[in-house]
Amino acid sequence: MASASTNDIEFRSVTKNYGAVTAVTDINLTVPKGAFLALLGPSGCGKTTCLRMIGGFEQPSEGTVLIDGHEMNGVPAYRRPVNMVFQHYALFPHFNVEQNVAYGLKQMRPKITAKEIDRRVAEALEMVRLGGFAKRRIHEMSGGQQQRVALARAIVNRPSVLLLDEPLAALDKKLRSAMQIELQTLQRELGITFVLVTHDQEEALSMADVVCVMSAGRIRQLGSPQEVYDRPADLFVADFVGKTNRIAAAMEADGTTLRLADGSAIASGKQLASGEVIAALRPEAIHLTRKAAPSGTSLKGTVTHRIFLGSSAEYAVNVPGLGDFLITADRRSMNESDLVEPGEEVFLGFDPAAIHVFPASNA
Ligand code: ATP
Repeated sequence: MASASTNDIEFRSVTKNYGAVTAVTDINLTVPKGAFLALLGPSGCGKTTCLRMIGGFEQPSEGTVLIDGHEMNGVPAYRRPVNMVFQHYALFPHFNVEQNVAYGLKQMRPKITAKEIDRRVAEALEMVRLGGFAKRRIHEMSGGQQQRVALARAIVNRPSVLLLDEPLAALDKKLRSAMQIELQTLQRELGITFVLVTHDQEEALSMADVVCVMSAGRIRQLGSPQEVYDRPADLFVADFVGKTNRIAAAMEADGTTLRLADGSAIASGKQLASGEVIAALRPEAIHLTRKAAPSGTSLKGTVTHRIFLGSSAEYAVNVPGLGDFLITADRRSMNESDLVEPGEEVFLGFDPAAIHVFPASNA
């Protein structure tokens, strides 16, 4: 099929109902060719439904899904240039690795020659670094290796889009980090579009180049990992993608003075409409010191907890009138503050530009 579009996937006003349940509402989304998109959101937000509509396992109730510029409504899964890797791999346990990977190719019509099948299977196994494992039985493979077999099987017939439904969920933390790097490398090498479903923000930020944050069947923000982390569109995104301290505040009539609930004032540096707001501040944007900074903004509080994390530490600090703050301190930048103990009085310093302000009604 000749390439019809620079976008591999497009959702046009897509709504999906399952009986009385509306799973997703009015989704509009374009994914450029060769992008690595992560659909990120809490359980039940509609990520898998979107993935299944791309794969052809579900049809939209309203609107259209396009792949490579072609409308896919009514096109069955097996006629789409798409493959899917499931969370539980769905491998044939009584087949060896090679037979599992070759399975789909053997079903293709017109038939592919045995020689060509062998060549493609070997190539796919090389790509997932399982070159020497062709004859191994599935039950003799580790979880990470089985995951790679599932990947090899999904790329062997060269789909233009690969759908990944929580593909790393069954792996332990260390293996998951290693596979994150491998998946990203594989995607770059293949140059095909990957769509990943995950509820793990770290996984989405580390692998994808476009992150689509969803909640309750709607898109809350679409952007690069840096954009959604550094410039969250709303409080939901600020809370879901990373951690956030919420500070109750009011924007004064001048539109730049932020009056915190404890009465202190901060020059917000941003012009905003006056009224009740929630100020959001990332834990790593706050510096802990024993002395108040000579200039800039600082709040006084008492350390209530410290969690040592190896390369960093997390502190909980209670600020009278404002409540508890979470602070992450990288050990290299701590110097003085790495000695701070629970019970000590400290100052919380931050750059006002690091504060994001949202209408209180958004909470
Ligand atoms: P999870 O991370 O738990 O898999 P998700 O974000 O992928 O969640 P979906 O599986 O897309 O969410 O589900 C979205 C909504 O649609 C949920 O309220 C779910 O209960 C509902 N839903 C999904 N599939 C069906 C179905 N086959 N029949 C009825 N309701 C469904």
